[in-house]
Amino acid sequence: MKKAILIAAALTALAGGAQAQDSSWAQSAKPFRILDNTYYVGTRGLAAYLITTPQGHILLDVGLPQNASVVEQNIAALGFKLSDIKILLISHAHYDHSGGVAKLKADTGAQLVVAQGDVYAMEKGVYPGSEQVKAFDFPPAKVDRAIKDGDTVSLGGVTLTAHITAGHTAGCTTWTWPVKDGAATHTALNFCSASVAANSLVPPQYPGIVADYKKTFATARAIKGDVILGPHAEFVDLWGKQAKIAAGKPSPFIDRAAYERLLDRQEAAFKADLARQEARK
Ligand SMILES: [Zn+2]
Repeated sequence: MKKAILIAAALTALAGGAQAQDSSWAQSAKPFRILDNTYYVGTRGLAAYLITTPQGHILLDVGLPQNASVVEQNIAALGFKLSDIKILLISHAHYDHSGGVAKLKADTGAQLVVAQGDVYAMEKGVYPGSEQVKAFDFPPAKVDRAIKDGDTVSLGGVTLTAHITAGHTAGCTTWTWPVKDGAATHTALNFCSASVAANSLVPPQYPGIVADYKKTFATARAIKGDVILGPHAEFVDLWGKQAKIAAGKPSPFIDRAAYERLLDRQEAAFKADLARQEARK
C-alpha cells in the first residue's frame, strides 16, 4: 500500500508538477559563451555547461538520455573537441540531468565525479525510493570518484568546489568556480535545485530527506557566488539573460538577486509541500 501511494505520488508529480517533462527539455538550442571559459551547451530547457581549460575540458550535466547527441553537437559547434573532455560532473543523479552521462562517458572516456549520496542512483540508473517507476530510469554509468562536501575538482588551472545541498537528491551538488569578466573575477554558482518535484517527504523518499532540505535552505544562502546558473534554464531565466549579453557590458548572468529569489521560491514551495504531506498523514 505504502509503495503504491509512493508510485502514485511520483507519477502525479511527473505528470503535473513544475518538473513535468516539457517539450523544451529535448529541444535543440544554440550553444553560447556565458562568461570567460564557461559555455552553455544544453537544450532549450535542460542545462549542460562546458568549462574549458588549456589541459582539457569539464562538462557539468548532460540532460535527458536523448540530449547527449545534442550536447555533443553543441560542443563541436563551439569549436571544441569531444576527446578533450576529461571530467564529467553532475548537479544530481536524476534522468533529466544525468540521463545522457553514460553516452558522454563512453564517447569521451572522461572521469565521472559524483557526490557520495548520488553514487547509487548514478550507477543503477534509478530514482532512489521510486525504483518501481520505470519512467525515471536512465542509462547508468560507473562513478570514478565519489566526493563529499567541500571537495574540489581541478583541471588546467581551474578549480571547482562541491557544496552538498541535499534534499532534492541525497547527493545534490551545487558547484562553484571562478570566471573572469574583463578584469574582474566572479564566482559561477550552479545551484543543484531544492524543488520537491517527485519526492515524497512523508513518508521519506530516502531517510533524512526533510532534515536535508531544511539544512540546505539554511546553508545555501551562505554559498558565495554571483554568476547564477541552474540545471533548468527557467531557474535563472537563462534565455532572457542570453538575449541581454552585449559586448563591453557587465554580464546579465551576474545576478546574485536571482539566486536569492530562486531559494525563496523553492523554500516556500518546500514548506507548503511538507505541510500538505504531513496533513495527509
Ligand atoms: Zn531533479
